[in-house]
Amino acid sequence: MPNVVDDIVAEVAALCRENRDGAVADYIPELASVPADEFALCIATTDGYVYESGSARTEFTIQSISKPFTYGLALADNGPAAVAAKVDVEPSGEPFNEISLDPVTERPRNPMINAGAITSAALIHGADVAERFERIRRCYSRYAGRELTMNDAVYLSEAKTGHRNRAIGHMLRSFGIVTGNPDDAVDLYFRQCSIDVTCRDLALMAATMANNGINPVTHERALATEQIERVLSVMTTCGMYDAAGDWVARVGLPAKSGVGGGVLAVLPGQIGIAVYSPRLDAHGNSVRGVQACSELSKRLELHFMHVT
Ligand code: GLN
Repeated sequence: MPNVVDDIVAEVAALCRENRDGAVADYIPELASVPADEFALCIATTDGYVYESGSARTEFTIQSISKPFTYGLALADNGPAAVAAKVDVEPSGEPFNEISLDPVTERPRNPMINAGAITSAALIHGADVAERFERIRRCYSRYAGRELTMNDAVYLSEAKTGHRNRAIGHMLRSFGIVTGNPDDAVDLYFRQCSIDVTCRDLALMAATMANNGINPVTHERALATEQIERVLSVMTTCGMYDAAGDWVARVGLPAKSGVGGGVLAVLPGQIGIAVYSPRLDAHGNSVRGVQACSELSKRLELHFMHVT
């Protein structure tokens, strides 16, 4: 028998499907061909139950939703002090692909924008790009509770056209933030962005964060509790880029979006939410993703400032 959450998920999904605002990302040519009106909404609880609506099992690329997970792995590999020496935790108020460093600290402002994410990728341990990528892929798979794989077509498409990210990589190298080959760091970043996920996977990845780093279905640990706290803090202040303030005011949950159309949000201790809908707003956030999370937050009283 459907419970109250099933009903609310169905209501919010029906409302959001009406919204045709925004446009799919096309600066990565391969992303331009995704079905623009696809929609999925999933909620996974920390005891492993998953509510699914729409095309919850359709695969799409994780894109920038990869950033908090690689940042977490960089923290685990290097410790928080060594990571903080390379990438700050301050909101930038700038678009995700801004070619900039903080003028005073000469570090990327946070790991959720591309400059900070390429820095996190450069900090992942491993003998070469292949080994480092394999560690990242396995790490994301632990959060999702299944083997994730890379989408070659999207990877090749971004690798062919990603000049702006290469410029960021070389800027990081010139300031001594990246000390190895900057093209390797950018290549690793393109690969992590091209990992395929479903909306259900993202909800479970979010629920793993909500569950202090332990996947609620497989019970495997993906990250230590202290690191999860730091990752969620940065997602709260920086996860939605230059729309982070509006997001916190409206939704009040740590979150991350990607230009593939995914959004995930975390209510620590309770649930992970994921939405897939490829049309994006001017910030590169899924239009219906933002709408669905804000409706769910209101109806289920999820805002972290909400007092019952
Ligand atoms: N791979 C994409 C890029 O670097 C990710 C951006 C995003 O999802 N916001 O441009």
